[in-house]
Amino acid sequence: MNKIAIVGAGQAGLQLGFALLAEGYRVTIFTDKTSEEVLNGPTLPVAIQYFPSLQYEQDLRLNFWYSHDAAKLDMCIFNMFNATGTPLFNISARLNKAPQVVDLRLKYAIWMKEFEKRGGQLIIQPGTIELLEQCTSVYDAVFVTTGKGAMGQLFEKDVERSVLSRPQRHLTMFFVKNCHVVPGLDKDVRINNMNAIEDAGECIFYNFLHKDHGRVNVLLVEAIPGGVLDLSSNKASVREQFEYIRDVLRDLCADVYDKIRYAELLEGELLKGAVTPYVKKPVGKLPSGRVVMALGDALAVYDPLAAQGLNAASKAAHYVATRIIENDGRPFNEAWINDVFGEYWKTARHSYQIANAMICGLLPHQQMAFYAASQIPGIASDIMNNAGQLEKIAHWFNDPGQTMVYLCQKGFVMDESLV
Ligand SMILES: Cc1cc2nc3c(=O)[nH]c(=O)nc-3n(C[C@H](O)[C@H](O)[C@H](O)COP(=O)(O)OP(=O)(O)OC[C@H]3O[C@@H](n4cnc5c(N)ncnc54)[C@H](O)[C@@H]3O)c2cc1C
Repeated sequence: MNKIAIVGAGQAGLQLGFALLAEGYRVTIFTDKTSEEVLNGPTLPVAIQYFPSLQYEQDLRLNFWYSHDAAKLDMCIFNMFNATGTPLFNISARLNKAPQVVDLRLKYAIWMKEFEKRGGQLIIQPGTIELLEQCTSVYDAVFVTTGKGAMGQLFEKDVERSVLSRPQRHLTMFFVKNCHVVPGLDKDVRINNMNAIEDAGECIFYNFLHKDHGRVNVLLVEAIPGGVLDLSSNKASVREQFEYIRDVLRDLCADVYDKIRYAELLEGELLKGAVTPYVKKPVGKLPSGRVVMALGDALAVYDPLAAQGLNAASKAAHYVATRIIENDGRPFNEAWINDVFGEYWKTARHSYQIANAMICGLLPHQQMAFYAASQIPGIASDIMNNAGQLEKIAHWFNDPGQTMVYLCQKGFVMDESLV
């Protein structure tokens, strides 16, 4: 494989493109918007990038923002409340390697320019089946990284792996400043703070580097459908919706209300949606019988509660690039795609399963592990510092017996009243 075509200039497409360019491949990316349109366009999701995904970017010399004070997170704090807003327990850990959070408009726009500087070809042309047909006759391999429109229908749903049939949360992302995420803690400490309120959903705060405003906060409301935080059918202005959430929290949960009591809305934009997590079959068959491979959101989509499968798009791009560069001598065909996906999924499935467990309700032994993490800092650190590699905790987190073995090793003593 020498000449590679990619549809979509986002996390998966650009990262794959850079990795292949670095090894001398000829890479063309087809995408629907210019870098200026991306930079000045509507808000994109604000994605937290953990290690090792961040390491892949650093290895490719794409870490333009890592030294920027506003772009990092130092600490992760999880607060659990009951349905009346009473605190149940807190888990917190300092992060050994700071994750990065950058406005994706800024990241993609700069990366697109950099891609061309490094010799990549960027063509502004939306992906269509006709384009894919042309590409498969000119390029050695073709990857599709957007699930939008006809591109999404090309890849069949993997019904065995796509266990959920409807969204478990309705999402609203606000952009705010002057949040007081952890009262009493130095404001310079950059925090990812999830607040889970029974029967209502989660309010997640994290700072990020905004393309125009520097360090500001995201407030991601992950509402249980039909619950008090659900804004899915609310058509009021962004300001009115924000004030609604603030009012609800005032009555529902004083601790979370305090975090946004004096917060100011940043821009008139907000992001709304609902995600039914799914996995697609990686092979897309064109009318001619030729094939293309799905990557990124075209391959698997997670609820963002656990940071979208913890950087699944980046990890898939990294794995595929490695397999192409290793060059096993086999052609790009259905068998190769299935083999690459099968190997990738052996690891990726752990994040997918844990992300789904987080939105569907943790099993009793997993709840116990979270409670134990609130008592023993070493457990909290193991969970939070492996957020980017959940496969490292999956062996005990997914198995009740192994969870108890692990918790005992860490010095957790079970109180009979908790059983
Ligand atoms: C609220 C929210 C929070 C999230 N938080 C996180 C997080 O913390 N961590 C994380 O890793 N992920 C997070 N995600 C998910 C993350 O943003 C995506 O998984 C990731 O961006 C997928 O990368 P991608 O390259 O597949 O697609 P995208 O980044 O969406 O890129 C797709 C590209 O394709 C282009 N395109 C679209 N349609 C076409 C077309 N028809 N033809 C050609 N090009 C097209 C787009 O312009 C874009 O350039 C979050 C998502 C949401 C909604």
